[in-house]
Amino acid sequence: MAKDYYAILGVARGASEDEIKKAYRKLAHTHHPDKKGGTEAKFKEINEAYQVLSDKMKRQQYDMYGRVFEGGQGAGAPGGGFGGFQWDAAGGFEGENFSDIFEDFFGFGRQGARASAKSARGEDIQVTLGVDLEDVAFGKEKEIRLKRHVACAQCSGSGAEPKSEIISCETCGGTGQVHTQHRTVFGVIAQTGVCAHCHGRGKTPKHKCAHCHGAGIRQESDAFTVKIPAGIDSREAFRVAGKGEEAPYGGKAGDLYVIVSVASHSEFSRQGSDLYKNSRVSFSQAALGGKQEVSTLWGAITLSIPQGVQSGTVIRVPGKGMPKKSGYGKGDLFVSVFVETPAKLSHRQKELLDELKKEGL
Ligand SMILES: [Zn+2]
Ligand SMILES: [Zn+2]
Repeated sequence: MAKDYYAILGVARGASEDEIKKAYRKLAHTHHPDKKGGTEAKFKEINEAYQVLSDKMKRQQYDMYGRVFEGGQGAGAPGGGFGGFQWDAAGGFEGENFSDIFEDFFGFGRQGARASAKSARGEDIQVTLGVDLEDVAFGKEKEIRLKRHVACAQCSGSGAEPKSEIISCETCGGTGQVHTQHRTVFGVIAQTGVCAHCHGRGKTPKHKCAHCHGAGIRQESDAFTVKIPAGIDSREAFRVAGKGEEAPYGGKAGDLYVIVSVASHSEFSRQGSDLYKNSRVSFSQAALGGKQEVSTLWGAITLSIPQGVQSGTVIRVPGKGMPKKSGYGKGDLFVSVFVETPAKLSHRQKELLDELKKEGL
């Protein structure tokens, strides 16, 4: 075993993700090279240990083999040094374990960039909706409940107290942008970011709305009905415009994408716009042929059973399948006929069958 990462972070081998994160934060703050008494070597070591122990897969490898294998996504493996997170020009450090921690250090991060994106247009939301075959066949309406950001009712999304004076933002001097320079272990990083105070608008209300603290949006539970597009299939999605996250300060709301998951049906199976079902016919009906009532999604129909039908014969019923996605017409229903051999016979039935047997049937 090369290095004892648990000892480096001062945690037990069975430490939880949370304990590891806490220990890392504390040590990283103490040993950060920008801090008095901080050393780069120690800081790198702490980061190396955290990269492995905060990653489920790497930690498992390390526990089993005492090392983490290089290759693939495994940047930042022991000896590989200080990798594993990437500078992203748009926002800051990528990687969920690091972004919040680096925000702590440097006072910047993705928050600013995110906020500016939000003020332009709200983010899209994706949900999965479980529906029945009937919902899809008839294009029924279904209720969707979700939590999303909606414009603050108190200030209509402006973030200002009613009649508040609008002033130039003091933080950015009205430019909407802030310039920051940070000395880090990677060197000096200069960044232009969106002013977090005014969200890039350069202007800010003198008195912020008390309801949303000036954000203009609030996360709330929302419920509304959507119409299921007739004929949609599982894993397909439809868009509900404007039902994504709403944006503050007059920005456009994002869209909601509903991914459909169609439950399996007790009677019908489906392939595209065609439906399939089984239908049992009696022994004598199969031999003689005749009419049989068969249920479909579109009401019962009378099926003509041809004389002498064999078990497994498929009868096609045009236009009784699912609506086509084009909006024109429906697919077909395929009925598989299964001939039932009687398991129990009455005395009379047995007599008659014996007669038939003598006739060569
Ligand atoms: Zn500002
Ligand atoms: Zn408000």
